[in-house]
Amino acid sequence: MYGNQADFKYLKEHVSIGQVLSHYGVELRPVGAGNLRGRCPLPTHSSRVSTASFSVNLPRNVWSCQSASCVAARAGQIGGNVLDLVAAMERCSLREAGIRVASWFGNQISTDPIVPSQLPRGAVPEEDNPPLGFVLQKVDPWHSYLSQRGIHVPTAKSFGAGLYNGGGFLAGRIVIPIHDHTGCLVAYAGRSIAGEEPKYRFPTGLRKSLLLFNFHRAVQSGEKTAIVVEGFFDAMKVHQAGHTNVVALMGSSLSQRQSDLLAGRFDRATLMLDGDAAGRHAADVIERSLAQRMAVTRMDVGAGRQPDQLQTRDINAMLGPALQRGRSMER
Ligand SMILES: [Zn+2]
Repeated sequence: MYGNQADFKYLKEHVSIGQVLSHYGVELRPVGAGNLRGRCPLPTHSSRVSTASFSVNLPRNVWSCQSASCVAARAGQIGGNVLDLVAAMERCSLREAGIRVASWFGNQISTDPIVPSQLPRGAVPEEDNPPLGFVLQKVDPWHSYLSQRGIHVPTAKSFGAGLYNGGGFLAGRIVIPIHDHTGCLVAYAGRSIAGEEPKYRFPTGLRKSLLLFNFHRAVQSGEKTAIVVEGFFDAMKVHQAGHTNVVALMGSSLSQRQSDLLAGRFDRATLMLDGDAAGRHAADVIERSLAQRMAVTRMDVGAGRQPDQLQTRDINAMLGPALQRGRSMER
């Protein structure tokens, strides 16, 4: 009986995360105002250090795990709704998660919604990422890791990226400043340079889904088209090729806020996601959702390739005509 979109919406609004956690025997401790916190139960969670990274907001029926390695293992997804939780626990699709939830709780599903469906989107204000309040010193844009990835020194400098020679959780990593849509510095991402896991470290509590990397510079480009890529290095490479109107999702999904940012400032989006199965699937999903708000085109970077592996001439071969077409339309 369950299996279509309307049923999934019903399940999300009527099955509580508390019910699902009880199903798995997971106990979290209350930390006030409808929030729970504790050790992350997800199979993607490998960190033994973080014992309180998993949190649940009961009124909103949402969860998140802030452990960088756990987030990375879930393709950048910090958290989500009750079906996202079951999909992450079971390592299955959302559709399969919906079918399982319906079979577990079919006769215990309350008729009153936990999350009122009439609640307008945005009624619960999403807290923006606070300003970082400091700038890292000892950042070396000349480090060989960057040149090995094809990033030239002027590009690294303009992004503020480089090897961090200070201490703390970003020590010995390539740091990349992340700004919000207003250009305010909110965090640094730290990329490992010798294969250490996690590949990327982010500060605890950073809400990547509220941000688009490089958005503030892309807006300044004055272009009507935004080029959308997945990662930091994809964005730096595309920027280096002369397309400063590039933004990165910092993952392979598009959040509501990211969609709002794009549709609010650009007329068109050019998707340039990774050429693997995950990237192509992500592009299908994002294209479908963005196409309702703006014109969307897709670039195929080639099977198994990513934009950060492309040479400037390859990038221009793909994007040059697209941008010129955009400009000539404006004339
Ligand atoms: Zn976790």
